[in-house]
Amino acid sequence: MPVDRLLEKARKLAESGRVEQLAAGVYNVVGDHGTYTVAQDYTGKYSCNCQGYLQKRKCSHIAAVMLATKQHKRKPR
Ligand SMILES: [Zn+2]
Repeated sequence: MPVDRLLEKARKLAESGRVEQLAAGVYNVVGDHGTYTVAQDYTGKYSCNCQGYLQKRKCSHIAAVMLATKQHKRKPR
């Protein structure tokens, strides 16, 4: 999938509220073909359990989580 299409898909997921935070650094993303779990490790790196991520190490679900978390500004430490 070209990167611009991936980002477009991610933006749609984020804007339609299909990113749900389950716990600190763990998110559910309801995609077109199923629900996927995106997890962030202690280094800040995201991983996803969908086929696209397993094959290419990037996917629209992770991009959607990044977009969605950017919208909610975190409190300054
Ligand atoms: Zn994914």
